[in-house]
Amino acid sequence: MVKNIAILGSTGSIGKNALKVIDALGSSYRVAALSAHSNIQLLAEQIRRYEPGFVAVTNPDYGKNLRESIDELKTEIMLGPDGLVEIAQLDEVDTVIAAVVGSAGLPAILAAAKSGKQLAIANKEPLVIAGQLLMNLANQNNSTILPVDSEHSAIFQAMQSGSREEVNKIILTASGGPFRKETAENIKNVSLEQTLAHPTWEMGPKITVDSATMMNKAFEVIEAHWLFDMPTEKIDVLIHPESIVHSLVEFVDGSIIAQLGEPDMCLPIQYALTYPRRVAGIARPLRLDKIGSLRFEKPNLEIFRALKLGFEVAQKGGTAAVVFNAANEAAVEEFLAGRINFVNIIELIEDCLNKHDAKTTLSLEDIFEADSWARREVAANIKHTTQNAGTN
Ligand code: MG
Repeated sequence: MVKNIAILGSTGSIGKNALKVIDALGSSYRVAALSAHSNIQLLAEQIRRYEPGFVAVTNPDYGKNLRESIDELKTEIMLGPDGLVEIAQLDEVDTVIAAVVGSAGLPAILAAAKSGKQLAIANKEPLVIAGQLLMNLANQNNSTILPVDSEHSAIFQAMQSGSREEVNKIILTASGGPFRKETAENIKNVSLEQTLAHPTWEMGPKITVDSATMMNKAFEVIEAHWLFDMPTEKIDVLIHPESIVHSLVEFVDGSIIAQLGEPDMCLPIQYALTYPRRVAGIARPLRLDKIGSLRFEKPNLEIFRALKLGFEVAQKGGTAAVVFNAANEAAVEEFLAGRINFVNIIELIEDCLNKHDAKTTLSLEDIFEADSWARREVAANIKHTTQNAGTN
């Protein structure tokens, strides 16, 4: 049977890797729909190569000229954010790979869950800010959520060796970022340049900063909490500088099952597509003899306050996680622009969470409202601080 796939965000790094994986999987996997925001040139190339029935261009200004560049092809083009929601629920689509940056893909992801699609989720925001809403919708409509984030894919894979009731806890691994050896005192003075030098994974600037603050792992705790219906007491984080063990599951009998592999997103993408089967693909097998040793250590939660906060936010649920995510996005933007210091990122987030009156029941409106509240709050806070600094 052919599996028809929609890739939301096909011109980004996950989207491009997903197409590579589909190429290697052969003719039982078909590209049925694609979407892009602004990289129309690459989207047109992808359309000519894969001939999907449908594409969505979320920024309508960029989509206007697409018709001309693919003239003879029958692909239906849908413009604007609604187009994304439409391709996510097409009858022709079995599996949706959601790889749209940030929270922009959320309405489409919820629509896919409502239509009972298999949903492979690659970015963190959907589960972080709308985990409860998304999992409820998926459960009600028999939609399977398949993690593509490497740690969650590892946990999902390890979980196949026992029943849900036999799981004692899950252990997320973290590279620890560039500052895993820093003291609380030293971390106050780290520069933007030092922050952007990540030891193992090569990623965009926002995610690299999130890895240095360990915010990334805090988000993954929240993701795991919803995805695997796991209370925070049963989630652990271990620093593992080699980034080879992608995560582990401890079962009630004391056995720990881990998933290992090269740091390469193609493997988790492929497993999400072929699950519950395993097939030969493009991922290179790991050479453990070349790696030699694997280290694990406990993260220092006094230094990595974001991680500590992540556990609290996961427990609180509701709009707290929305504020956590949005305040971080706003603060990281300020840091990347050179307007605040590294430690100010977590201070701004903490301040924002302290002022926030969290709602427990969630709708998309609540999510977007809490999101813009947090961004306004961070902006106001920075303005206030720089004004004060100016008068001193
Ligand atoms: Mg990850």
